Amino acid sequence: MDLGLSADQLALQERAQAFARKVVRPRAADIDASERYPWDIVKALTQERFVGMTIPTTYGGQGLSFLDAVLVIEEMAKCCTVTARIVVETNMGAISTVMAYGTDEQKHLAASLVLAGDKPAICITEPDAGSDTTAMTTRAERRGDRYLINGRKHWITGAGVSRLHLIFARVFDEKGIELGIGGFLAMPDEAKGLRVARRETTMGLRGMPEGELVFENLEVPAAMAVLPPSGLRHGFADLMNAYNSQRVGAGTVAMGIAAGALDLAVDWVKEREQFGRPIGEFQGLQWMLADMQTQLTASRLVLYQAARSRGEGSEFPDPMLAAQAKIFASEAAIRIVNDSLQMFGARGYSRDLPLERMARDVRMFTIGGGTAQVLRTLVASRLLGWKLPQTRDGYMADDARRHAAE
Ligand code: FAD
Repeated sequence: MDLGLSADQLALQERAQAFARKVVRPRAADIDASERYPWDIVKALTQERFVGMTIPTTYGGQGLSFLDAVLVIEEMAKCCTVTARIVVETNMGAISTVMAYGTDEQKHLAASLVLAGDKPAICITEPDAGSDTTAMTTRAERRGDRYLINGRKHWITGAGVSRLHLIFARVFDEKGIELGIGGFLAMPDEAKGLRVARRETTMGLRGMPEGELVFENLEVPAAMAVLPPSGLRHGFADLMNAYNSQRVGAGTVAMGIAAGALDLAVDWVKEREQFGRPIGEFQGLQWMLADMQTQLTASRLVLYQAARSRGEGSEFPDPMLAAQAKIFASEAAIRIVNDSLQMFGARGYSRDLPLERMARDVRMFTIGGGTAQVLRTLVASRLLGWKLPQTRDGYMADDARRHAAE
């Protein structure tokens, strides 16, 4: 099928596929079972230049597009979800936020770390501020040429292994006046006051540490504040907008897991015989396979479209397309992996095959990076052309909108 990929993109995809099959696939089961971050894979990805691909050439990267990154992520995800997430977060997410809004100094710093294999951590979620991100209580208080950060974040991907941290906090000036929510770059090895309080126990994605971080008078130079041109008052929305690239990446990981599971199922139904015939001859399974393939094709198309929307008036993917792509691909992937597992019967439920690992891994993608429900609110809000405040008094403030919402 012609998906409009260039010769360079097809070559990149082929290179990623060969690497994933040879280097990544043999390690996937152990990465899950050992629950250890795969430094050997990080080294190999770095040598192959699959990290920092989207970083502009001025900062040492290859200046590749998000679609290029998507092609690589899908191939990794077919074999190992943790590896695919490393590729996402060394090409999208925090790194794209810094590349969009950072100072020259910040861009050089972030690029040099990522190109050496660091997977930056993005620190937004708090125990009492999940979907409601603006309820965060972490504070950054100005003290001369530095900020002092105090607070707590949880479910931070890469806790304990990432060097660069992009920390979101409420910003206060010297007089204690609140200015808005801003982002700050910190490295725990260079600044005291950032510690991992605990590692979360996760259902899947076990080789990637998720952790709770505590900031106790963490000192960050004022020069490490990441400020969008719109300033602090509106800057949080811009910083979060940059996160749209990460959503395309996360949706692609889900789609790649589904593609890997479907490949396994297709081979299996031709091989496994019951009632004297390959089980693939039963129409009950054929129709399941057709639905799985249809959902996969649709997922790939919306993800490619979202990735390609970067550059059309913005340096990020379109928020509406990114949200739709993540909702659709993540929900479809859960169904596809579940149906693939079903086709293996008891063997699908065994830890000897990768299906149960894929089923655990894929479950995350309707949750992290904005839940499927919250992303639907974003889509509905754009569709209606309304702000859709989720707090009770948000509706109370505007009669017309409250009635419209009822
Ligand atoms: P809640 O906000 O408490 O939501 C609970 C339920 O209510 C969900 O089903 C949600 O959809 C629903 N809900 C909430 N509000 C609404 C609404 N207005 N309308 C309809 N339904 C609603 N965060 C980071 O900052 N950095 C990371 O690196 C990071 N990595 C993560 C990795 C993993 C594996 C996971 C699972 C999470 C990660 N997160 C990270 C956190 C993630 O972004 C949050 O879990 C997510 O935003 C949801 O917040 P919550 O878990 O507090 O759920």
